[in-house]
Amino acid sequence: MSIFCQVDDKHVPLYRIVWVSELPHFCGSEDCRQEGRYEIRLERGESIWANLQERDAVLGALEAWQGEDEPDDVEWPE
Ligand SMILES: [Zn+2]
Repeated sequence: MSIFCQVDDKHVPLYRIVWVSELPHFCGSEDCRQEGRYEIRLERGESIWANLQERDAVLGALEAWQGEDEPDDVEWPE
């Protein structure tokens, strides 16, 4: 599978994603342009913003990507 997922007009490498927001952004700021969008945090404090469909696609891509090279019986150290 591709190592990239597409958000807005960007192809983002999956390995650069740190976390994905569960809830849509709300900060109350009048000039905020990301209201209602989902934050996807990248390394080095960068963020990109996705709509709900894009966010779900990113989560699915991350899960598929993580599942690819891990054996089922992997045991994580405590
Ligand atoms: Zn905001």
